[in-house]
Amino acid sequence: MNEGRRLLLTGTDFMDKRLIQAFRVRLLKWFERNRRELPWRKNRSAYRVWVAELMLQQTRVDQAIPYYGSFISRFPTLRKLAAAPLGSVLKTWEGLGYYGRARRMHQTARFLDAHHGGRFPRSYEGLLALPGVGPYTAAAVGSLAMGLDLAVVDGNVSRVISRVFAIEDDVRAAKGKKLVQHLADRLLPVGRSAEFNEAMMEVGATVCTPRGPKCGECPLKRVCRANEAGLVEDYPLRRPRRKVPHKVVGAGVIRKRNGDLLIARRNEDAMLGGLWEFPGGTKEEGESIRECIRRELREELGINVEVESELTVVKHAYSHFTIELHAYWGRIRKGRPRAIHCSDYAWVKAGELRKYPFSRADLHIIEKLEARKIRQP
Ligand code: SF4
Repeated sequence: MNEGRRLLLTGTDFMDKRLIQAFRVRLLKWFERNRRELPWRKNRSAYRVWVAELMLQQTRVDQAIPYYGSFISRFPTLRKLAAAPLGSVLKTWEGLGYYGRARRMHQTARFLDAHHGGRFPRSYEGLLALPGVGPYTAAAVGSLAMGLDLAVVDGNVSRVISRVFAIEDDVRAAKGKKLVQHLADRLLPVGRSAEFNEAMMEVGATVCTPRGPKCGECPLKRVCRANEAGLVEDYPLRRPRRKVPHKVVGAGVIRKRNGDLLIARRNEDAMLGGLWEFPGGTKEEGESIRECIRRELREELGINVEVESELTVVKHAYSHFTIELHAYWGRIRKGRPRAIHCSDYAWVKAGELRKYPFSRADLHIIEKLEARKIRQP
């Protein structure tokens, strides 16, 4: 039996000192040689780490890179972000999804500007006390930008730990999460938190991937219980997911005689709050799409509309449900729009729609309009 195997099988305490040491040494050596050059690893400040971490919470690295570049060049400092209107922040974020992140980021920037002189507090407790900052973000900013000894646990880290220690709990549930955090805290070498946290996230993102992990190239293969047992793909253990609800949504592409189109701004406390949309909503049971659009526009904007032909159908998946969005052309029959169940509305030229921030599903409608060269039925 080689040294690695002996380390793995020592006793029942899988966190014995030799294992911890072997884990750290192998991981950090590997990271020295395999560290990717990523834009947020240059000129690292608390602000830049914070922006990158929020983007990466729900987005893959390759998708986040261009957004990070344009976000930082548009808002190079926290104060510039705080001074910007929410609409321009959402516009820069457009297409990245999970828009609550952009809204929270904007609120936090304004709070820091108003109460902390535009700077981040330099303790975990201080970071955690900020509005919109949870334990993950506080640990990421604290360790990566300030060198505080805090272990960061994201989805990648959680997967690596669940496999290395063959955790028998669901690591998405409270008990499993607590155990993973405890193990990450124990593994963290004092004084090297930034490097260690990045190495953990990197190995999870590039080697210990959700499917087809490259165990042969993995620095942790000799200390990994799932690998030892040949059960790599069984971890992390999961409870079966609940069925994702599906919604059918109707939206009106309402136009004036001069071709201007009606758009509405969603209430800020709603999902996708602050974004613009072609007005509409979820179809109720027994209702047709046309009836749904007529009802929604009456409730949302106080107008009676004539629903004409279908423009397009968009299928889109959010984190907790999927939608099928039916967009129909329409005209106002009676009434003038008022912002009743939305925060604002506007008549815009079709060629100017792109100036407003929209969700991805509505962007598909805009693409359809552009592909048809805004032809009307
Ligand atoms: S050996 Fe395989 S399962 Fe274990 S940490 Fe490495 S890549 Fe993941």
